[in-house]
Amino acid sequence: MTKILIAEDNAINRELFRELLEARGYTVVEACDGPEALRMLEQSQPDILLLDIGMPVLDGFAVVRAIRENPSLAALPVLAVTAYAMQGDRERVLNSGFDGYLSKPINAKSLAEELERLLNERDDRNAAAKPSETEANREKQAAKAAGNDRH
Ligand code: MN
Repeated sequence: MTKILIAEDNAINRELFRELLEARGYTVVEACDGPEALRMLEQSQPDILLLDIGMPVLDGFAVVRAIRENPSLAALPVLAVTAYAMQGDRERVLNSGFDGYLSKPINAKSLAEELERLLNERDDRNAAAKPSETEANREKQAAKAAGNDRH
């Protein structure tokens, strides 16, 4: 089962994310600030991190920097969520080590699509790293594409 770590200082937002993600079948673990997020990454080994930018102690930029500097975490998909809606922020976020960006208020459909996109990219990277599995992965994707065509 896919496990997501939600790092977000606002309890109401954490609850909202948890409900959205559990409804989609994800397993959810939570952190309230940057240092806890880094501890939870080691403890819980999530598949993906949903990371709020505005947090006390260590903000999202500092957390993603620490992740990219740690060889055992460097490949972790990290999706930024932020209330900052200023022009240029999206580019700044994507140039800072995040793999994706969503601005608050969070749209449930966009969240689900972004998570799927990042998890698929991770699977493709893993397949590329293991050539013997590439063919199986390609067949899986072809089957998925054929399935999508029917809808
Ligand atoms: Mn926040």
